[in-house]
Amino acid sequence: MFERSTIRHCKQCGTAVSYRLPDDGDTRERAICPACHTIHYENPLNVVGTVPFWDDKVLLCKRNIEPRRGKWTLPAGFMELGETVAEGAARETHEESGAEIEMLDLFTIMNVVRVGQVHFFYRARLTSDRFDPGHETLEVRLFAEHEVPWDEIAFRTVRETLRCFFADRQRGRFELHQIDIA
Ligand SMILES: [Zn+2]
Repeated sequence: MFERSTIRHCKQCGTAVSYRLPDDGDTRERAICPACHTIHYENPLNVVGTVPFWDDKVLLCKRNIEPRRGKWTLPAGFMELGETVAEGAARETHEESGAEIEMLDLFTIMNVVRVGQVHFFYRARLTSDRFDPGHETLEVRLFAEHEVPWDEIAFRTVRETLRCFFADRQRGRFELHQIDIA
């Protein structure tokens, strides 16, 4: 049903689940345990990150992990329990780049329905141009618009966010962009 459906075994008792409509009137197929009857609900995951900038340049990280190892990305990752969207974005930025930032406004919110994800990127002002890449990152670099390796960007949401950033920068006004990724 969704590409992200990953539940194979019951989280309560370990029995292999089957996907079917629950008996409670629910209209979506769910992973249901035939032994203990637990219904496992799957919901979209939030991916949170930033567009860290320094003058007219944007910070990108070269990925040291799959998927897309060796490709460039904005710092981003899965939101954790116990944090806000902005806290998660700041944490991922620090973990992946070691950059010091001042968080600004939410900049893009993108539905990636096909994989059951929602991506949020905040603008973030770099307060230093010294970086300290974490283990998930091979290299951290600043790129002016004409230097961005557009064919080497890891994810469509990162490419869209970078396009919006440079377009808004050109106009001299930043606003929130809501985008549906097909
Ligand atoms: Zn079970």
